[in-house]
Amino acid sequence: MLRQLELVEKVKAYDPFVEEELLNKAYVFSMRAHGSQTRASGDPYFSHPVEVAGILADHKFDSKTIITALLHDVVEDTKYKLNDIEKNFGNEISYLVDGVTKLSKFEGRSDKFNQAENFRKLLLATSKDIRVLLVKLADRLHNMRTIHHIRNEDKRKKIARETMEIYAPLAERLGMHEIRIELDDLSFQVLEPDIRDSIIKRLNLLRSQDEQLFDKIQKKIEELLKKNDLEFEIFGREKTPYSIWKKMKIKSVNFSQLSDILALTILVDDISNCYKVLGVLHQVYSYVPGRFKDYISTPKPNGYQSLHTTLMGPLNQKIEVQVRSFEMNRRAELGVAAHWIYKDNIDVKDGKQFRWIRQILDILDFSKEPEDFLELTKMQMYQDQVFVFTPKGDLVSLPKGAMPLDFAFSVHTDIGLNCMGVKINNSIKSLNTKLKNGDQVEIITGKSPSFSSEWLDLSITGKAKACIKRYILIKEEEDFKKLGKEILINHFKNEKIRYSETNINNVLNNFKLKKIDELYSLIGNGTILPSKIISSLFPEKKLLENNEKVILLNKVKERKEDLKSSIQLSGLTPGMSIHYAKCCLPIPGDDVLAFIAEGKGLMIHHEACEDLKKIKVNKSKILKVSWDRISSKKDDFIAKINVSIKNKIGSLGNLSSIIGKSKSNIRNLKITDRTNDFFSINLEIDVLNKDHLNKILGSLRTSEYIEAVTRL
Ligand code: MN
Repeated sequence: MLRQLELVEKVKAYDPFVEEELLNKAYVFSMRAHGSQTRASGDPYFSHPVEVAGILADHKFDSKTIITALLHDVVEDTKYKLNDIEKNFGNEISYLVDGVTKLSKFEGRSDKFNQAENFRKLLLATSKDIRVLLVKLADRLHNMRTIHHIRNEDKRKKIARETMEIYAPLAERLGMHEIRIELDDLSFQVLEPDIRDSIIKRLNLLRSQDEQLFDKIQKKIEELLKKNDLEFEIFGREKTPYSIWKKMKIKSVNFSQLSDILALTILVDDISNCYKVLGVLHQVYSYVPGRFKDYISTPKPNGYQSLHTTLMGPLNQKIEVQVRSFEMNRRAELGVAAHWIYKDNIDVKDGKQFRWIRQILDILDFSKEPEDFLELTKMQMYQDQVFVFTPKGDLVSLPKGAMPLDFAFSVHTDIGLNCMGVKINNSIKSLNTKLKNGDQVEIITGKSPSFSSEWLDLSITGKAKACIKRYILIKEEEDFKKLGKEILINHFKNEKIRYSETNINNVLNNFKLKKIDELYSLIGNGTILPSKIISSLFPEKKLLENNEKVILLNKVKERKEDLKSSIQLSGLTPGMSIHYAKCCLPIPGDDVLAFIAEGKGLMIHHEACEDLKKIKVNKSKILKVSWDRISSKKDDFIAKINVSIKNKIGSLGNLSSIIGKSKSNIRNLKITDRTNDFFSINLEIDVLNKDHLNKILGSLRTSEYIEAVTRL
């Protein structure tokens, strides 16, 4: 384990702006916080954060990153809270530690291979600051190095799989190639120990057979380059068992010669020499077409630059060669850190020490492979997204601000349409809840669609809105047809005329229509008056005049007596083809009047509604409505009541408990008047129908606290 002094010296060696005191403090704080906790290995727990800090110091990250590494498990695993970190180490460190803690919560949840891409995005979206991710990567690396201490094999494999699918690719994207290689190989060791062993055995065998061969090849190439007056460094690089295995799987080949497992790296001091070396090699040896890659003119998404080629080399052996500058090599080894360490980091004092974050993003922007560099350059973009889990653990990405319905429709249209409610992290939430990163979302569905037009305000995604709109149109059309037919039949009955579809079909032409359904729909939405059909069928009748007079609705009460038959409301959708007037809030059982509102369908008012009396409407648009068989759910109807209640302790509690016991719910409450003895309160409560309301009013009247109750 790195001792305090060693770590500080290590950081000081490359970061001239290290806050030595804070670094020392973090070391001691973490050591005390973790106290006597131990790891699976039996080592003191504190050894873990120190090793993680060490890994990051090897990569020369800024001292804030190192401090974060030391403290990264404190909030999760010790009695200290985030505000303790903030008190002792300031905003920035506590922000970073919080980020790492949040990432840790997602650990072990990326079970599914096809989720890997989304899961990496989730990590990026949650990280906010790239340093959070760096600490998490180093944390994972150390955990992988010590994974053999975990006894449970399934657990080991799960961690290894997650490492290989999620963290190793992230390391690569960040340009930390070495960490990627190590993470991959450590995972491989856990997942396929037998395959790995046999690859290593074969490697050893090949090495012992061909030891001379590889040296000879390398010497030949050295001689060739020297003859051309080039200055360079050359070394052989052995492929890892995992990278050999990957190749074997993809190309379904065996490795048979040393040149399959060894590659040569040639380093020179500048770009023009890279191309000179390549030119010399290609002149002398033939190269394998299709294997030449120029990552200097087109860097990899993570900023990696190099020339790659495969030669039919000396002694007729195929050999891979990489050529790059020292600078490029350093960057390949260090990843993102290289940029801030070796480029223009020196304006750190003006508080811009994190320019390198932007720089790395700039470099990634160079890349011309959009899907590849997406993850990092678009890190900002992920700030606009939210990633949530299905109950099965699948990951769904949605735009920020998305609500449960957006989630439901993104999973499946049927789930969206049949949505009745939602559970978020296992507790029931309202449909207007904004989803947060990492939420587990479960949609509660009914057997049939229960959507309403309000849903348009409860969704933000195009998909959800389009589905809802389309379905509303379909449903509305159905409703209007049904309602139109009802209205027409009803009108015929009131005029004592036998209803016959055949007759009506004969006059469709008069309305420039082809199908009777079209006519029904236009009657239902109020575009065509039912009286027009009758006068079209029986021109001799004088109904027209009589019916088309515009009257004030308050005078129609007597007329209502003539309306023998009534319209059935069952099967029609409130908010689409039928609307309950907001002014008088009619409920099932009330005496009501309905009139056809053009383009909207039926508007239903309480018969005594004051607003209704002011409305001028064509006589034939007025209908009698029957509430029969209307199925109401608990929150379909609201009644307004006024309660006069004694000004005593416990009286409000009594009021709400009576309403609760009556299986209702208070929507709104307003004290309208208050004297020494009484309150006057206006309430809006949920009711099923008039019966239900009467029961509630009755129960309220029995209360000793309540003086008077009236419906408004
Ligand atoms: Mn850790």
